[in-house]
Amino acid sequence: MPKEQHIAIVGGGAAGFFCAINVAINAKKHKQNVKVSIVESSGQYLKKVRISGGGRCNVTHNQFDVKRFVQSYPRGQRELLSPMQRFQAQDTIRWFEKQGVEIVPEADGRMFPVSNTSDTIIETYLRLVEDYKINLVPHFPVKHIEKLENGSFHLESRNSQPILADKVMIATGSSNGGYQLAERLGHTITERAPSLFSFKIRDELIEDLPGLSFEATIKMTLPSKKVFKERGPVLITHWGLSGPAILKLSAWAAREMKQSQYQARLLVNWLGETSPQQCEAELQELKEREARKLLKNTYPAPLPKRFWCQLLNKLQISGDKQWANLNKKELNKIVQALVASEFSIEGQNRFKDEFVECGGVQLREVDFRSMESKICPGLYFAGEVLDVDGITGGFNFQNAWTTAWIAAQAMIDRIIDGAKAL
Ligand SMILES: Cc1cc2nc3c(=O)[nH]c(=O)nc-3n(C[C@H](O)[C@H](O)[C@H](O)COP(=O)(O)OP(=O)(O)OC[C@H]3O[C@@H](n4cnc5c(N)ncnc54)[C@H](O)[C@@H]3O)c2cc1C
Repeated sequence: MPKEQHIAIVGGGAAGFFCAINVAINAKKHKQNVKVSIVESSGQYLKKVRISGGGRCNVTHNQFDVKRFVQSYPRGQRELLSPMQRFQAQDTIRWFEKQGVEIVPEADGRMFPVSNTSDTIIETYLRLVEDYKINLVPHFPVKHIEKLENGSFHLESRNSQPILADKVMIATGSSNGGYQLAERLGHTITERAPSLFSFKIRDELIEDLPGLSFEATIKMTLPSKKVFKERGPVLITHWGLSGPAILKLSAWAAREMKQSQYQARLLVNWLGETSPQQCEAELQELKEREARKLLKNTYPAPLPKRFWCQLLNKLQISGDKQWANLNKKELNKIVQALVASEFSIEGQNRFKDEFVECGGVQLREVDFRSMESKICPGLYFAGEVLDVDGITGGFNFQNAWTTAWIAAQAMIDRIIDGAKAL
């Protein structure tokens, strides 16, 4: 029997657990003598999994075309393409199915356990940890990782004996401590910035209308003149604007918005892709067809009445006016406000359901065929510690599952190759 190999995974979150379990499954399948440890700074594992998706855990996204799937990563799109050809959303679903967990889609593409609770995912992981005798090491915040001359590693923490490992994975999410570990082992950490946030906006048009949602198109111009566009649901909140289209825009523009201190100009077309000409024609038709009706009672179909009345108020056009009496100048003002409402973004608000950071271990320093460091052999990365982040909808967990699975295959392959070479 070859000597036992010890794989230590730093971080007991989504990526850490998925990697540990897959290492253990592979080791058993290939009859390798491997010990797997998950080393966690706190006493609680899988904290983010528990609270994710509002406690329901949005495990992945219902999109099995990998080329389209990776388009949802503002950072990491190119690098994730080939790993996802090996382990994608469909593989995640099958993996859980094998463990008796059904993952089902919702109309917007997000996928959840059929039980509708993240407890199902956590219980499955903890059961597998027990079945495969994975060693859990809580309350061990790794402060330093030392690479020894023989190629193995020392994991050090305050007031504890160091842990010796043959291979190490850093799966510490977006924690400062994790980035420092990677930096001290020679890696570069790219600029960090919040991603997936809503916009703080004060404007009388959206005041007191929280909860109203529109299928809108939005265009944001930063002080640097850089422009970002998005289309989809936009939600009015107490603080400004949110909803999937705003969150996506925040992800794509995360670094640029940080640089501009979250000041930008936003144009909203509340009617989706309706052009100014189409909008004008529609209002003109209303004016002719509903000439005797009051403005406040008759308005373009998709708009909520409260919003329409507030828009008239802001434009200082009386809602008690008949459509027939709307003059050309007023009609043009309404067209402009409907297809290109202009707002000043004054800041950002964290999105409570899924908060993610961009920035992390520079991707060109990692071999995405194995998730092994190109700088420090034997060191691996998975999950949010990498400079990868997805838009909301299950993409961030899929990054954790894919990169952890790839690393788990590679670690066992290396151990098998090493044993053959002896
Ligand atoms: C509120 C919220 C809801 C979310 N909902 C979703 C969702 O529904 N779908 C989705 O796709 N994504 C969601 N996300 C994002 C998703 O949770 C993360 O992308 C994912 O958890 C990243 O996994 P990870 O394993 O890389 O990091 P984490 O899950 O953050 O795990 C890292 C672990 O490492 C530990 N650690 C850190 N430093 C050290 C150290 N020095 N030594 C030892 N241990 C250490 C931490 O304590 C933690 O347990 C959500 C995020 C938040 C905050």
